[in-house]
Amino acid sequence: MTGPAPAPGTVFLVGAGPGDPDLLTLRAARLILNAKLIVHDGLVDPAILAMAPPRARLISVAKRRSRHTMPQAEINALLVAEALAGRDVVRLKGGDPFVFGRGGEEVEACRAAGVPVEVVPGVSAALGAAAAAQIPLTHRDRASIVSFVAGQCKGLTEQDWAGLAGKGRTLVIYMGVATAPQIAEKLIADGLAPEVPVAVIENAARPEMRVLRSVLAGLPELVVRAKVKSPAVIVIGEVAAQGRIGQLRALAAEAAI
Ligand code: SAH
Repeated sequence: MTGPAPAPGTVFLVGAGPGDPDLLTLRAARLILNAKLIVHDGLVDPAILAMAPPRARLISVAKRRSRHTMPQAEINALLVAEALAGRDVVRLKGGDPFVFGRGGEEVEACRAAGVPVEVVPGVSAALGAAAAAQIPLTHRDRASIVSFVAGQCKGLTEQDWAGLAGKGRTLVIYMGVATAPQIAEKLIADGLAPEVPVAVIENAARPEMRVLRSVLAGLPELVVRAKVKSPAVIVIGEVAAQGRIGQLRALAAEAAI
């Protein structure tokens, strides 16, 4: 005989920020410190995972570009199954769950299954990187519009980015390291000046952070020469010339442009 189904647990979709545990919200920190089950992405910093109680179960569903270890449908099914078994689930994502985080799909899956779901915002990479590099995304004299775009998405070249970059605007590109040459070409073809300042912020809010600078036309070469690796955001616009430089290697990269 089976007893009545337990009351479903809650799925907490939690933004873990760009890396530094100090950038977690208090709510995220409390949930992690009390978690019994954490389902996390590859981008969540090990220092944050280390905050979980020793007996917590940690499940990684790490994704890498073109090497998905767990398809989204399986992640959704895992969250729902655990919650329906009566367990609360802390679903930890890098940055903010609703900025290029597929949080929308996970919320829908929970709702469709009658599983209670809550969303805890996090510091998205654009904001964490801008703060760490001291690049203001908006500036009274330089930029009053800021856009976030995905540099790796279906049909990149057909995407309409017209008007997102240019005078008075800041464009922040997520997932753009591998497609940097296409991005520069696309923006220049759209009429953006090749000498618009660009900053690449790699591993923002982590000890190994690098801030590299160039101009739009020099972006592809910079990415190759400095061996930029994901995760990195690319900031394009007048504000990208501001702020501080990362490490010595970054200085060398800048000097060579
Ligand atoms: N939900 C996340 C974004 C996930 S998409 C957020 O809100 O930040 C993954 C992309 O985020 C990476 O390819 C990179 O462009 C960016 N990213 C995530 N963490 C980063 C970090 N610490 N430094 C720089 N870029 C980061």
